[in-house]
Amino acid sequence: MSLVEAENLDHKAWQDLAENLNVDTALFIDGNFVNPKKGNKFENLNPATGKPLNEMARASNEDVDAAVANAKAVFKGGAWSRMAPRDRMEVLYKFGQLIEENAIQFALIDTLDMGKSISEMLTIDVPFSAHTFQYYAETIDKIEGTVTNTEYNALHYITREPLGVVGCIVPWNYPLMMAAWKIAPALAAGNSVILKPAEQSPMSGLLLGKLFMEAGGPAGVLNVINGFGEDVGKALALHMDVAKIAFTGSTEVGKLMMVYSGQSNMKRVTTECGGKTPQIIMADTESLDNAVEYAVNGIYGNQGEVCNAGSRLLVQSSIYDEFVSKFIVKTKSSYSPGDPLDPATTMGPMVTREQQDRVIGYIDVGKAEGAKLEFGGGIPAGQPQGYFVEPTMFTGVNNDMKIAREEIFGPVVCVLPFDDLDDAISIANDTIYGLAASIWTSNLKTAHRMVKEIEAGIVWVNCFDHGDMTQPWGGYKQSGQGRDKCFETVLAHTQTKSVWFNLG
Ligand code: NAD
Repeated sequence: MSLVEAENLDHKAWQDLAENLNVDTALFIDGNFVNPKKGNKFENLNPATGKPLNEMARASNEDVDAAVANAKAVFKGGAWSRMAPRDRMEVLYKFGQLIEENAIQFALIDTLDMGKSISEMLTIDVPFSAHTFQYYAETIDKIEGTVTNTEYNALHYITREPLGVVGCIVPWNYPLMMAAWKIAPALAAGNSVILKPAEQSPMSGLLLGKLFMEAGGPAGVLNVINGFGEDVGKALALHMDVAKIAFTGSTEVGKLMMVYSGQSNMKRVTTECGGKTPQIIMADTESLDNAVEYAVNGIYGNQGEVCNAGSRLLVQSSIYDEFVSKFIVKTKSSYSPGDPLDPATTMGPMVTREQQDRVIGYIDVGKAEGAKLEFGGGIPAGQPQGYFVEPTMFTGVNNDMKIAREEIFGPVVCVLPFDDLDDAISIANDTIYGLAASIWTSNLKTAHRMVKEIEAGIVWVNCFDHGDMTQPWGGYKQSGQGRDKCFETVLAHTQTKSVWFNLG
């Protein structure tokens, strides 16, 4: 209902809503908005204008301690952890519905916070986040134990129990959706959760906390504390009473999570980290136009700030020139940076000035390395205040160049030619990352060989970024360990207990 209403709003209506922005800014602990113990705040900027949106409460270690102590007590009290599965399902299902009913507010605040286009919020982030809670609601009464076949005078069964307090640390590129992917399975399994949104996108997590209560969730089960990674995130990851950290973010910080675990209580850690996804386009692909369209959307959607962005296009030499010309035409007709509050805009700004500098820095490196800049490469004229970067394409790239090896996390694509299948597989796998890959071919043998040999957690054949909640989302190599989405993830928020009865 509300999603439909939201889709009917025009640019002016979104601008008016932005003018009258009114959101909670405190910490959300034990079902209430509370001020941080030290009273600290941080400025929250709109990346499309560079102007302040509001001041958000900034938590300290003391707030982390208070939130964890309370979440632990609530867990032990059993209001959620021992709630009947059917009742817990109802709460999570309702939670999903409330996200959809609040589509306008979620779309507005994530767009203002991180600059993604309002139309992507309405077609991707809001509906998929709502569905995430409904999918995990459905898993609750499917979490089963086992009775094993053992000796006559014994009964051995294995049961699954929630872990306790789970810390969810998330990035800014899909603020609502990354939070949903993390907290839904943790809650479904019966845990208490502390969500730490990214400091660049602190608003939507707080609305989630409030709506969880409206859905009938007990106080203290979902808590949201904003603050900086190196203080609040670190304190959470080092906390002796946190049983698991579910992390999404950079590979560099993902590695730190494993260190913090070792330095504290050996808490479980799952990490969803960076990527340098290859899209491999073979000369025998059925429709080059189709492959081009997916390739363009695969790199420029969400301004390229996507973990699985198809940032390396591996194109067979015989179709290389044709592919590049079609790619240029398609990009020019589909992507140009603009005000993300305009439903017609397909590309917003980078999330921060630092991210803009970082992306422009990589573009300079690409030029210096000798790659050919086909288009883009700068800050678009007419948007001097926001943190915009033009859609950018480098051709003639080889896989040793820094722009082909490092995650740029912006609208910059590298096109690399290859000669044959062996060549393509070797380039695709020559990376520290292994989140995703895509293959375009009409030859079954080629497709199957690639699927077997590509080192990635997700492989698409003749498409890119297709999937649903049943799809395990996560990487090989330094793209992390553990999986988001899928049934396996709810089990990863439980631990097994083996119970042996002596009947003799
Ligand atoms: P980041 O690693 O800088 O930050 C992620 C989160 O970690 C933030 O909440 C931040 O505050 C926190 N953090 C930072 N330093 C910390 C520390 N020392 N201790 C504890 N917490 C700390 O990442 P980002 O810039 O927010 O997001 C971009 C990255 O996220 C990219 O690398 C992208 O590929 C990755 N990502 C991966 C997936 C996936 O599913 N694999 C999805 C989205 C984003």
